[in-house]
Amino acid sequence: MENKYNFKRFRRLRYNPIVRDMIRETELTKNDLIYPLFVVPGDNVKNPVKSMPGVFQLSIDKLVEECKEVRDLGIPAVILFGIPEHKDEKGSEAYAPDGIIQRAIRAIKQKVNDLLIITDVCLCEYTSHGHCGLLDGEEILNDETIALLAKEAVSHVEAGADMVAPSDMMDGRVFAIRKALDYKGFTKIPIMSYAAKYSSGYYGPFRDAAESTPAFGDRRSHQMDIGNIDEAIREVEADIEEGADIVMVKPAGPYLDVIREVKQRFKMPTAAYQVSGEFAMIKAAGQNDWIDEERVMIESLVSIKRAGADMILTYFAKDVAKWISAKG
Ligand SMILES: [Zn+2]
Repeated sequence: MENKYNFKRFRRLRYNPIVRDMIRETELTKNDLIYPLFVVPGDNVKNPVKSMPGVFQLSIDKLVEECKEVRDLGIPAVILFGIPEHKDEKGSEAYAPDGIIQRAIRAIKQKVNDLLIITDVCLCEYTSHGHCGLLDGEEILNDETIALLAKEAVSHVEAGADMVAPSDMMDGRVFAIRKALDYKGFTKIPIMSYAAKYSSGYYGPFRDAAESTPAFGDRRSHQMDIGNIDEAIREVEADIEEGADIVMVKPAGPYLDVIREVKQRFKMPTAAYQVSGEFAMIKAAGQNDWIDEERVMIESLVSIKRAGADMILTYFAKDVAKWISAKG
């Protein structure tokens, strides 16, 4: 029979829910998820982060319990951020063999199998001034800093980390870390680089959680300007050349175009970090009943995946894993 109207009938594939499920192009799976966790000194500590409902600063004993739960939910990986006992100008606890992260990794590895431990590699949580590197006056010294980052990465891996994720945005740090890991025989350990990390207002709540607000100034001398995408491509390209195995775009939701471009151009495993501010906005609106939190959570993450992300660092990881399990 001839179609007397000259148009296409897209709705044919939308009437039946079974057909809708069959033709869906992008779907979240548990394997997409990486759960960020914050470790603090002490015992039996579970401090709620006010601006991030459901997120806590955990002492190592509580962290181990949390990791068991995360693994039991089917989430394959966590990324650890440490808040040290003492901060100093050089961020010494970042690369101390008995630093907070190093102890946390050992404790998790003792009690929880088959959970991938990724560590954030930066100095800002460990420096008294809250900046991501060594300072000369108010300027961050690039080359002196990357030597310490390499030391930090090696100490994480010596403690048992499965993957390291440098977040500092110093130039040449992936190269320095790769060289240092290889020199120590850790040629099998992958690097996930925060390759295109923007100087974003969406990081606000994280700084409460990681206690890493700079004492003066901001991070604009090393993080990227929000208006730039060509520069993001150059950053990602450089990190790949230096040895990054996975490249990350951060934040995620407001930078879907960057995720898309990075994925299409380099065909590399691509991660995206749905940051604290993205999470906090959805949570807050949900708690006020202004939006359907679960629906928007899923939509935000599907969009990040649809843009090209192979994996997503998200504070929603546990909620999503539960949602996927319930869906069956
Ligand atoms: Zn930093």
